[in-house]
Amino acid sequence: MKKVAVYPGSFDPITNGHIDILKRALNIFDEVIVLIAYNNAKSGCFSPTERKEMIEEAIEELGIKGAVVDITDGLTVKYALEHNATHLIRGLRAVTDFEYEFKLNAGNKFVEKTIDSVFFMTDNDYEFISSSSVIELHNGGVDVSPLVPKSVLKRLK
Ligand code: ADP
Repeated sequence: MKKVAVYPGSFDPITNGHIDILKRALNIFDEVIVLIAYNNAKSGCFSPTERKEMIEEAIEELGIKGAVVDITDGLTVKYALEHNATHLIRGLRAVTDFEYEFKLNAGNKFVEKTIDSVFFMTDNDYEFISSSSVIELHNGGVDVSPLVPKSVLKRLK
């Protein structure tokens, strides 16, 4: 049976840190659904549709096989169940990520015990990269081309 995982996040926008986690998840799972979890109350920098386009272009450009992209404004675990996924993928950078992920995992388990989470430790090259830091650096005039895929760079400009 095909092993499917969901990689949920804001991806506002996707960074090379996210891409690294996605590629590593695809070493374990046959299919990874990159799920833009969209909360209407938080407007964000890019619209969910723009985020989806940037991810799809990056997947295409980098030749990543087995990844699909979707958007939800609902609960991630419910989405995972409905799409026959068994696991959620998350990434960990600093200790602060751990605290947040620990609570998120407990909440997810409360909703649905059968969906488990798999955590990937950040690659040293990407440990300082977040979507918000990329935007801040770009707005401050820094060249962020080593930090994001070309599809994102194009839209930032
Ligand atoms: P969220 O708002 O759900 O945290 P993000 O898009 O910021 O969404 O991140 C999605 C997931 O990817 C989170 O688990 C986050 O810790 C992880 N992640 C983000 N950037 C990196 C990175 N540079 N290295 C490893 N994991 C990362």
